[in-house]
Formats: sequence, C-alpha cells, structure tokens
Amino acid sequence: MKFYSLLLFAIASLMISCSQTEPKKDTYNLDNNIASLTKEISADSIKDHISHMVSFGTRHSLSDTTSATQGIGAARRWVASKFLQFRKQNNAEMSVELDPLVVDGSNSSRVPYTVTMKNVVAILKGTDPNDDRVILISGHLDSRNSDALDSINAAPGANDDASGVAVVLELARVLSAKKFPCTLIFMAVQGEEQGLLGARHMATKMRENNINLIAMLNNDIVGNSVASETGDKNNQTVRVFSEMIPAVESEEDTRNRSAMKSENDSPSRQLARYASETAKIYLDGFTATINMRPDRFLRGGDHTPFLQNGFVAVRFTEFNENYTQQHQNLREENGIEYGDKLKFVDFEYAANVARINLATMVSLAKAPGAPQQVTMQVNLGNITNLSWEAPSGGPAPKGYNILLRETYQPHWEKKIFVEGTSAELPYSKDNYFFAVQSVGTNGHESLMVIPTPKRQ
Ligand SMILES: [Zn+2]
Repeated sequence: MKFYSLLLFAIASLMISCSQTEPKKDTYNLDNNIASLTKEISADSIKDHISHMVSFGTRHSLSDTTSATQGIGAARRWVASKFLQFRKQNNAEMSVELDPLVVDGSNSSRVPYTVTMKNVVAILKGTDPNDDRVILISGHLDSRNSDALDSINAAPGANDDASGVAVVLELARVLSAKKFPCTLIFMAVQGEEQGLLGARHMATKMRENNINLIAMLNNDIVGNSVASETGDKNNQTVRVFSEMIPAVESEEDTRNRSAMKSENDSPSRQLARYASETAKIYLDGFTATINMRPDRFLRGGDHTPFLQNGFVAVRFTEFNENYTQQHQNLREENGIEYGDKLKFVDFEYAANVARINLATMVSLAKAPGAPQQVTMQVNLGNITNLSWEAPSGGPAPKGYNILLRETYQPHWEKKIFVEGTSAELPYSKDNYFFAVQSVGTNGHESLMVIPTPKRQ
C-alpha cells in the first residue's frame, strides 16, 4: 500500500514536471464532490458581482453612507443583502452582520476625521460541535483614486478589489448550500486603502477571542491578466504570497527556527504550498504559484494584520499587475486609458482564482486538524526520528503523511503514509526538510507542520 501510494505520487509528479505549458490535473487526491463544486463557480456570476460593485460610483471608505445607490454605505449593504440572499436560497445556517469599527481621525493621515466603517461578515457555522476550526476568506470593499483622500470622484475599483469581493461572494453562494464540520467565514472589509483598518479590526478581535483560525485567504486584485508597460499576458497563473519568517515569534519559536533552519517553512508558507498543490489537483491549465515574499515589493495587504496577530494567512494576487488601472483617476493621457474599469477585468481568470480558493477551503475543512507537538529527535546520523500528537477536536485522522523535500526545493517532494504518531526514516536531516500532516478517513489532508527539535 505504502509503495503503491509512493509510486502514484512519483508518477503524478513526473507528469507535472513534463508538462510545463499545459498543467495537467494530479488526480491522486481528487475528491469528486470538490471537483463538482469548482464547476459551480461561474465567470458570469463573478461578472455580475463586480458590475454591481462598480455601479456604486466610488466605494472610498470616506464616501457617502446614506445614499441607496452610491458610495460605500450602499456597497456594504448590497454585499450583506447578497449573503442574506444566499442564506435564504440555500436554507443555510449562516449569520450575516455589518461589524462596525470606529476609526479615530486624530491618528491617521488617511482618515482626517473620526468615522465608523463596517466590515460585512457571513459566518457559515460548522456542524461538528467539537470542531472549533475556522477558515476565513476575505476581499476589500473599498476603492480609491490617485489621491488616497478623494472620496468624491468615481473610483470603480473593478479589479482592486471588487474582483476579490466577487470571489468571496461566489464562494459564499456555492458553499452555503453545503455543510462542513468546521466554520467558514466570508468577509468583505472596509478601510484597506486607509491602512488595512477593517482587516486589523477583525484580526485583533479574533486574537482577543482566541479563535482557532487555521487559514486566512486574502484575495486582492485577482481579475487582470495583462501587465502595464510590458503588455505581458498571463491568464493561467495566480500568485500566492506568504511570509518567510513569521511576523510574530516567541523567543522559543526563534530558537527553534534557528536550530531547524526553517526560514522557508513558516506556517503561512505551508498554506501557500497547500493551495498550490490543491490547484494541481482541481484545475486544468491554471496554476497557483508560490511567491516567497509576504507581499509585492513595498506593499502589504489584509493578510498582514492577521500575520501580525500570529495567524496563518496568504494573499492571492494576479500574476501581472496593471499600474495604469490601480489607484488611478479615470482619464485618458497620451492615448492610455487610466482607471480601474470593468472592461479590463478577465472574469474567467477571476473564476479560476475562485476555484482554487474553494478547493483549498473545502479540502482543509474536510481534513482533520493538523498534528500537534511535532518534534524531531536531535542527533547526528542518517536516520531521522519524528514524533507528534493527534489533533484535538474535529474529524479523527486515519493516519499521517510524512513529507520530505531536499533543502533546495520549494515544494514537498515525497509523501510517506504512517498510521501511528512516530516514524523512523532512512533520510538524513542534512539533506531533507521534514513535515507531518494529518490524513482523514476521507483522504483529505491537513496543513503541514514542521518539527521542532527534541533534545534528550
Ligand atoms: Zn487592494
């Protein structure tokens, strides 16, 4: 059985490496239910969500909150009404709320007066009372112009970030028809362009309430496939950004990281790898490439405050960005059309990004929790001993995968299934990095956990 699994994995890996231009599905772990859910994601539906978001004129965080048709107030009420519509359609046990945050105008150059912003949050409650895991997907409601304080002029924000909110809405539409053991949260936040305010509010709240948030998926700018300046087109790849060294570490975490040389193995990096592998299973001709940076050069996003609160979080962003569209007043200059307009969005591209988010969220939700207290015995030699404890709560694992990769490799390469909670491996610690993940009776796999050193 073990040999057969390894053989299948090796064949699948070989198939992937042989087909660089046309990625093919790795069907090793394919779940037909997830495959059919990804097919329910519709580019037309995403176009409809983005068109509605654009129709509010501007969604600047300081724009009108009273109009029924224009400004951020109308936009956030519309998003809440969509969540309520999905709840009704699907008879779902899903709570929907506008979560207020008061932003003090004296502390911020981008918020000149005190204002109440609101995040729109839909919580699809898990069915297993013993499973306290939460998975969150987020996009940002607000848009902006060249001037970050311009709350009056049109700022359609079709790509930044109506595309991300559309992904969130589309997942809520499809997934609220289903039940999962753990809780899924669909969120559209405000104040991203004014300093990640809505996301920080939610991250702080979840930390204060000790929420077991196992993964945060930030979707920001996920609908354009053509680069400005170069004209390069890539409608087959989305980037998954993850931090190298965790933003928050205890002194013990830092000592362990230094001992294990695990700078390329933050929990968020494991989530990025997980999403990338999941894309290989469920999508043809579309890849999620891991980007070994926390975010784009000099920039940040709504996953950042989650990282700063010690959560596991990644950012999905298109492969090529177009700077004539982002944060630009609508205008024409030297024959170039500036502004973040609906007509520049590639809806099928955004639909594929939504499919990866869906497959990642559902695979994690159906898997057991990750193993705990994963340790590696400290000794010199060519045998490596790992041990760990079963996850607490949630679906029980049938066993665990030991994952290995050579030190220069970005992705896990070998996968060895074991039933117990320890393993002795004929692989040298000098040549390989190791991780352990739980495997459910349904075959679904948890996030990977790297070991800490165990000194005797
Ligand atoms: Zn954005």
